[in-house]
Amino acid sequence: MAKAITKRTENYSQWYLDIVKRAGLADHSQVKGCMVIKPTGFAVWENMKDQLDRMFKETGHVNAYFPLFIPKSFLSREAAHVEGFAKECAVVTHHRLMNDPNGGGVVVDPSAKLEEELIVRPTSETIIWDTYRDWINSYRDLPLLINQWANVVRWEMRTRLFMRTAEFLWQEGHTAHATREEAMEESLRMQQVYADFAEQYMAMPVIRGVKTANERFAGADETYTIESLMQDGKALQAGTSHFLGQNFAKAFDVKFLNKENQQEYVWATSWGVSTRLIGGLIMTHSDDDGLVIPPKLAPTQVVIVPIPKPGPEIAEVAEKLMQALRAQGIRVKFDDDEKNRPGFKFAEHELKGIPVRIGIGKRDLEKGQVEIARRDTKEKQFVPIDGAAAFAAQLLDDIQQNLLQKATKFRDDNITRADHFDDFKAIVNATRPDQTESWGGGFISAHWDGTTETELKIKELTKATIRCIPLDNEQEEGRCILTGKPSNQRVLFAKAY
Ligand code: AMP
Repeated sequence: MAKAITKRTENYSQWYLDIVKRAGLADHSQVKGCMVIKPTGFAVWENMKDQLDRMFKETGHVNAYFPLFIPKSFLSREAAHVEGFAKECAVVTHHRLMNDPNGGGVVVDPSAKLEEELIVRPTSETIIWDTYRDWINSYRDLPLLINQWANVVRWEMRTRLFMRTAEFLWQEGHTAHATREEAMEESLRMQQVYADFAEQYMAMPVIRGVKTANERFAGADETYTIESLMQDGKALQAGTSHFLGQNFAKAFDVKFLNKENQQEYVWATSWGVSTRLIGGLIMTHSDDDGLVIPPKLAPTQVVIVPIPKPGPEIAEVAEKLMQALRAQGIRVKFDDDEKNRPGFKFAEHELKGIPVRIGIGKRDLEKGQVEIARRDTKEKQFVPIDGAAAFAAQLLDDIQQNLLQKATKFRDDNITRADHFDDFKAIVNATRPDQTESWGGGFISAHWDGTTETELKIKELTKATIRCIPLDNEQEEGRCILTGKPSNQRVLFAKAY
């Protein structure tokens, strides 16, 4: 038997790593900070991607593809943008290798130095807006609603599989609009699309909010975010949608002729989610026995296991069940591998998070029933063969609902109001040995005086940052948790991934 997964109460980071590796989602690679996404992990990403792509298309977007390399001069055109990304850029300087004349293997050919260095894209605003200059002439060319599925590189120093890697897969939407209002509407629309996806597909509740100036995307006028809470009480920025104003249009001279025949700069948005979502999925739902995946995103939704061995009668029932499930669009597998015992298979399917397991035993067949087990609560029950497919389909819906409800309750139970800095510190530093070995403290709702200075001071003292100013915030008179200066609304603080 393989080694058990580390318990969350023992070592939460190790638990996460165990799940990622043992469920076959990803591995560390030879290149520091980069990961190998394995077939099961990639299948989850494909399911996320398919659904998001559908939602982008339903909201009028089309896909395109822009180069991986960005001329260095492009990056520096927008001052705030380059300042934000400069510290984590991979730079291509040469285009050829040669044999070392001193016999030291292969070296960079000094004569093949690029005239202009190229940046491996950390995000594509610059190269895309340089292209949009040719695509946009008049108001008739607007809005331009484009999305790209791609990989990007940000030279991150502290990495964690899926949550933060140096290379990651993502999508980036880049839209161009004739008016400020339209662009603003688009940024909020895409934040809502992300929130809907997170809740309806990932069963991960999120708070929609706006970032403070300090946490804003480099080059944006406003950053809208969806924030979720992981099982260890730390927050995760799960997706962002930026209102870019006319910053990139000005940097790349993208103007259009408006209806009044006047030249105007174009308004922009950009928005992205990444393979980080897989990390969020794991940390929201999984337990000490392995992965728990919401049925809508599970690569395999139902697995049928013969007990003890797949005889012809069992195979026949399994085949019929599979047909009935597939007819409903359910992804189902028959695990008739004879090398492993049922008990081993059960543990393996639990570890991989397959939402529903149907066991078919000889004796059960005589009684005309099968055993159906759900991964989330581990409950099992016997169901008549005739109704088994319908039962399993209903169970998938129930599991999806249950996961969202459970995660929502956990999130809501872990938003605490603080009105004094001592209380704030106590919440951040509290331990929860019953939950996880490291406990982040959850979200803290507190007043803040609106300055970056105070925000940074609080971060320095507690490691908690302002995750967002919730969009549905109520106005409320109060005093800043640190400085006591007047404030008219609470913001959400948390330690974050
Ligand atoms: P940004 O372009 O910085 O707004 O990033 C878009 C989204 O990508 C963020 O909201 C994160 O969810 C995700 N993201 C940012 N950096 C990383 C990283 N190093 N690894 C994985 N995902 C990331």
